[in-house]
Amino acid sequence: MRNEQTPFTLDTAQRELEAIREMVRPCMQCGTCTASCPNAFAMKDPPRTLWRLLLLGFEEEVLAHGPFWMCSSCYTCALRCPRGLPLTEAMAALRRLAARRFPRTAGRNAAFYETFMDNVRRYGRVQETALMTSYFLAMKNPFLPLEYAPLGLRMLGKGKLHGPSAAQKGELQPLFDKAAHKGERP
Ligand code: SF4
Ligand code: SF4
Repeated sequence: MRNEQTPFTLDTAQRELEAIREMVRPCMQCGTCTASCPNAFAMKDPPRTLWRLLLLGFEEEVLAHGPFWMCSSCYTCALRCPRGLPLTEAMAALRRLAARRFPRTAGRNAAFYETFMDNVRRYGRVQETALMTSYFLAMKNPFLPLEYAPLGLRMLGKGKLHGPSAAQKGELQPLFDKAAHKGERP
């Protein structure tokens, strides 16, 4: 996620923020992005609110609340926005910025996001057990699995936990390669 070529200074942060604002400046607040987002219910500031806060200069609140960590890059909002704005790219740019501007608060979210994307890249879909094992190892907190145990048991009871499978392994690698070639992150 870190751009090794660019030292992260407040000037850099301001330039990146301005670039994100330009992405969403034509927003007319119609609300289609929020209504379409499958994860809006989990965001403190759902997409439409997020763009407005950014444009009004409340970037510190936006970065601290971190609604963009809930974005799963499904592109629904970007496809439906009547202004054709690059909303998924804006969410990704906010994640990159938050990880560098607030590394301590972003730590857990950033680790989960990185682990999730790596899991999808490797297996072509989410492999829940491998995902959580990698996340626990990345967090180096022996008590964290206990926190997730109730959720794991509920998912197991509903048949939502899948064992390791190589059926779709590497299928999404070309997509990740293409994004890397363009200097972007999904
Ligand atoms: S769908 Fe587009 S124009 Fe409508 S609120 Fe969202 S960003 Fe703004
Ligand atoms: S790309 Fe992110 S913000 Fe947009 S609809 Fe999907 S989850 Fe929501």
